[in-house]
Amino acid sequence: MKNVEPDVILVARPQLDYGAVATYLRDVGGESWLERLDRGDLDSASHDPQNLAEFAGRLCYRSCEQGLNPNVSKVRTDQVKYLENILASAHGSVLEHVSFTFVLHNISRVTTHELVRHRPGTAISQESLRYIRLADIPFWFPEWARHDAELMKRATAVLEQLEEFQRWMADHFGLDQPGTAFHEKKHKTSFMRRFAPEGVATGLVWTANIRTLRHTIEARTDPGAEEEIRLVFAKIGGLMRAEAPALFGDYVIEDGAWIPRWRKV
Ligand SMILES: Cc1cc2nc3c(=O)[nH]c(=O)nc-3n(C[C@H](O)[C@H](O)[C@H](O)COP(=O)(O)OP(=O)(O)OC[C@H]3O[C@@H](n4cnc5c(N)ncnc54)[C@H](O)[C@@H]3O)c2cc1C
Repeated sequence: MKNVEPDVILVARPQLDYGAVATYLRDVGGESWLERLDRGDLDSASHDPQNLAEFAGRLCYRSCEQGLNPNVSKVRTDQVKYLENILASAHGSVLEHVSFTFVLHNISRVTTHELVRHRPGTAISQESLRYIRLADIPFWFPEWARHDAELMKRATAVLEQLEEFQRWMADHFGLDQPGTAFHEKKHKTSFMRRFAPEGVATGLVWTANIRTLRHTIEARTDPGAEEEIRLVFAKIGGLMRAEAPALFGDYVIEDGAWIPRWRKV
């Protein structure tokens, strides 16, 4: 048995092509939006995700600068205030353009089962246990469990027995015998995973857009949510607040629950 900790690794974030944006803005006459970049007002290096959301929002109403759309009498130039208004008015589609990709590492099948229930705005590629042997079961114990010596002794014994059965099956099926066909190994390894505990740690690549991230961070850090997924989404919340503070700065954190000022944007 291998003790592990659930971890969240941010592996991809959006990047704007400002030259391409300029091509569009030249056509509609909104280049002063990009001049703000030159002045550092939009801080391109660290705020591409926010700039993309802002750009998408401004395209909707041709509000890149004053005067482009006679129906628009007020153009907010402060990005934080602009994005706050997007959240407050629930103009959520703008946020769907901005996606982030995470490796959720050493999370249990308990957590992956719950995570996959969130469908809109996500993409998932999960480690296949049809191919991976479980002779050394990776497993997370919460802090409170680790302090319970009798529980740990019994839990470790159960896991070791499961591992021993995995090794026995691998030997019994001759999986390591020369000449065992790959499809046979896959067939039997897939059968063997049925004897893995639901707490076995695994991993997946998870992509979600800002709209989905806001909803799932709220739902899955709620006190009623399961303790491992709460831990994972608190980490995701912390990462997102650093990546796009104007889009995640409205949350207050109470007893680990991320409570947004604007829900379901
Ligand atoms: C405390 C808790 C207990 C739970 N217990 C169980 C359980 O016992 N059994 C079980 O099966 N599940 C359970 N779930 C899962 C739950 O039912 C949802 O499937 C899961 O939380 C996904 O969230 P979501 O509905 O917000 O969907 P998401 O996929 O995250 O969608 C986001 C939002 O988009 C909208 N949306 C998405 N899909 C549709 C659709 N098809 N039609 C209309 N609107 C849609 C909804 O407004 C939804 O809130 C539980 C969840 C929680 C938080």
